[in-house]
Amino acid sequence: DLLVVGSANADLVVGVERRPAPGETVLGSDLVVHPGGKGANQAVAAARLGARTALLARVGDDAHGRLLLDSQREAGVDTGGILVGGAPTGVALITVDPSGDNSIVVSPGANARLTPEDIRAAAPLFAAARVVSVQLEIPLATVAETARVLAPGTRLVLNPSPPAPLPDGVLAACDPLVVNEHEARSILGEAAGPAPQDWAAALLAQGPRSVVVTLGAEGALVADSRTGGHVRVPSPKVHAVDTTGAGDAFTAALAWRLGLGEPLAEATAFAVRVGAAAVTREGAQASFPTAGEVAAP
Ligand code: ADP
Repeated sequence: DLLVVGSANADLVVGVERRPAPGETVLGSDLVVHPGGKGANQAVAAARLGARTALLARVGDDAHGRLLLDSQREAGVDTGGILVGGAPTGVALITVDPSGDNSIVVSPGANARLTPEDIRAAAPLFAAARVVSVQLEIPLATVAETARVLAPGTRLVLNPSPPAPLPDGVLAACDPLVVNEHEARSILGEAAGPAPQDWAAALLAQGPRSVVVTLGAEGALVADSRTGGHVRVPSPKVHAVDTTGAGDAFTAALAWRLGLGEPLAEATAFAVRVGAAAVTREGAQASFPTAGEVAAP
């Protein structure tokens, strides 16, 4: 089974002609509310593909929390690990201007109250997981505890987003670390070389057993410390309409296929097809494909 440990947010989206200056009020379009957050997105993406998936997350005892629980259930996610209460559900307040640029304020809310103790209390979920997938929209101490409680043989997939300095032991537990260009550059800083294979090599030197760099329309690059070298995995050519959530769909697909025992390069070849399918439709969770909607290789 796949266990996703991470965030669940309500995305509150309003279109505006322009953003308000300090002290100013502007009128916007009707409010649209979507379930989101990287953890919730990954769990929905995996379950929609057919993966047996559980989400360990925290939401508030409020309407946004119920929206998140409903969307997870509808996708077929095991919601028994979703904790309720302690703070309002996390929200992302998003304004979109006519050029399509987003301005976003995130209130982490209940996500910030997912504690290391919550991880320890979820031992049965961890015992059932072949792969655990985690991101950084929850407290770093909780991410560190997730890496610490893994049973031998359970694989950890980490997407370090939003980028943050990682606690000791987390990078070394990753197999793989999954980064886009921005995340790779922010982990490596000045040390980032010119090309993706340089980033992968430099990231491997920081301890993960394997690294996957996603490259948008270019697909992904895989580097594994056990085999050495790197493999380029091209993405199918598609007409991209909205890349929101593509990385989450990619990582969920990768984590699921690794849990089925596929080698890293093959699981990545499946994941790029899932990511490519997700960019052909609007939205995050709404854009995630079923297995039947993923293009044949
Ligand atoms: P993120 O969404 O985290 O920024 P990327 O932009 O690298 O990450 O996209 C993640 C994956 O989604 C890619 O590896 C690829 O499979 C797919 N993808 C993203 N953009 C495109 C695109 N324009 N065409 C085809 N596939 C894409």
